Amino acid sequence: MFFKSNYSYSNSNTSYSDLLLEMDSGNIESIYFYPRKREIDVLYKNGKKEKVPILYNDQLIIEKASENNIDLTINNNRKESLTANSFASVALFLIFIIAIVLILRSTSKIASRALGFGKNKAKFITIDDVDTRFEDVAGVPEAAEELKEVIKFLNEPKKFSDLGAKVPKGVLLIGPPGTGKTLLAKAIAGESGVPFLTIAASEFVELFVGVGASRVRDLFEKAKEKSPCIIFIDEIDSIGRQRGSGIGGGNDEREQTLNQLLTELDGFADNSGIIVIAATNRPDILDSALLRPGRFDRKIEVMLPDLEGRKKILSVHSLSKPLSKNVDLAYWATRTVGFSGADLANLMNESAIHCARDESKSINDFHIENALDKVTLGLRTSIISSLNTKKIIAYNEVGRAIVSAVRNGIDSVDKITILPRSGYMGGYTKINPDEDVVSSGLISKKLLLSKIEIALAGRAAETIVFGKNEITQCSINDISYATNIVREMVTKYGFSLIGPLSLENSKETLLGDGFVRNKSLIADNTYSRIDNEIINISKISLNNAINIILKNRILLEKLVEILITKETIENNIFKKITFDLLNV
Ligand code: ADP
Ligand code: MG
Repeated sequence: MFFKSNYSYSNSNTSYSDLLLEMDSGNIESIYFYPRKREIDVLYKNGKKEKVPILYNDQLIIEKASENNIDLTINNNRKESLTANSFASVALFLIFIIAIVLILRSTSKIASRALGFGKNKAKFITIDDVDTRFEDVAGVPEAAEELKEVIKFLNEPKKFSDLGAKVPKGVLLIGPPGTGKTLLAKAIAGESGVPFLTIAASEFVELFVGVGASRVRDLFEKAKEKSPCIIFIDEIDSIGRQRGSGIGGGNDEREQTLNQLLTELDGFADNSGIIVIAATNRPDILDSALLRPGRFDRKIEVMLPDLEGRKKILSVHSLSKPLSKNVDLAYWATRTVGFSGADLANLMNESAIHCARDESKSINDFHIENALDKVTLGLRTSIISSLNTKKIIAYNEVGRAIVSAVRNGIDSVDKITILPRSGYMGGYTKINPDEDVVSSGLISKKLLLSKIEIALAGRAAETIVFGKNEITQCSINDISYATNIVREMVTKYGFSLIGPLSLENSKETLLGDGFVRNKSLIADNTYSRIDNEIINISKISLNNAINIILKNRILLEKLVEILITKETIENNIFKKITFDLLNV
């Protein structure tokens, strides 16, 4: 009775006054009230049921009901309204879910596009027929010789296993960028006729933890299918960094990837015909686990090419180009100290472009000279017109050339120009790096001091010629270059009066109570000694440069005069003039 559904009551035509009359005349059995509803259910004695509209909170009906002994029931309709509302709430809930699904879908689409987390992303490149051969790699004879052995491993693995010898699983190529590491790896694949699977190590590392590891797994699985083959991992330092370095868990993904790589390296059987070649220019930061025997235990250094090497590389890269008979590549090799194979390839390519621009039939020295300028100095920008500006720049450049000639010999100056190049303020004095220094990598204190003096020589020349209040900021780049070297001398190499101490970044990172603190290991008064040393060395070097130029004032004026009219002084002319006039 209590929960009698109000749906069985039909809407009435009975008016409010009729209802009151019916109540008085005793025709009504009971009345059901619903709180907060402006209608009641009326049950007549004759069994008729109907809904009648009333006033909100109608007291009259209640009074009349008690007067006439009519049964009054207040219907707690919470449950009913629940069922009534449940439709609406289910619908709302559904809409909510659908909306969430749609939002998630669209964001995951955006995310996968942004992060490259697609399933069908090319994970690595497989080249089945590599056409690179050892002839294409010039100037790195030692590395090539060592790698030729690897070809034997790939072609006749059985021969080695019969002898009980273990073929190396991993070969690490170490060397500066552009020296031909990738090219060498390809040449091995090409010469031995095996497929070449390559991936850059940075491709392994994604934002999502675990993706890198699964890519490593895929790569080795594919390699097992294709064996014998070569896996080449370029720039391995991006995953192979020493683990546990850095703060916090940000390197989780990289560490997992590295662990997977180590596992895979251990996982494939010896002599299985898979050789992993990796390349890096930062062997110092590699995890020691990578370098232990059974992994990348062979390390092959690929050095910058020497004079003979550069000549060979130049000729490799001019094979397909129409080179004029007069071009002597040995001469160009002397002009390109410190160039990598990639730089030399670029030089020959630029020369061909200059040649095409000239519409000439073959590449001559002039084209190569222009290309060399472009490669080393950048593009020429607008011509300076003001004589005064030319003068200032000319004194700066000639000052540097003279100090270089005194300190490192006349041959050290390759070219002086006051033609502005993008990226440089003023002109440019091209100074040949010392072949010994480039090949040995050893830097002497004397060499650094001479670099500082040369860098400050522009300022020195301006001070002498124009007076110390008329100097300009023309040598701003050289000054900052000099300061950097001086700082390194003091804090890195131990070349100052402070002594043989490494004072660079001497900071201890403390991880206590969840906070990271940097505690400097250098005392405050050592800092001021460092600064004093830097200031002293810089001032002394500027003075030395001033003295050198003062001694060569006549040569300075002569070279400046030529430079202002000709704009460029080539090394043969520089030598000729300097030879007679230079005071050392
Ligand atoms: P790395 O991998 O050491 O950074 P690469 O092997 O990718 O350098 O070299 C880039 C390009 O430079 C090569 O494609 C090639 O044209 C040229 N190159 C580099 N070293 C040599 C070399 N020793 N002999 C011939 N060409 C070279
Ligand atoms: Mg490379």
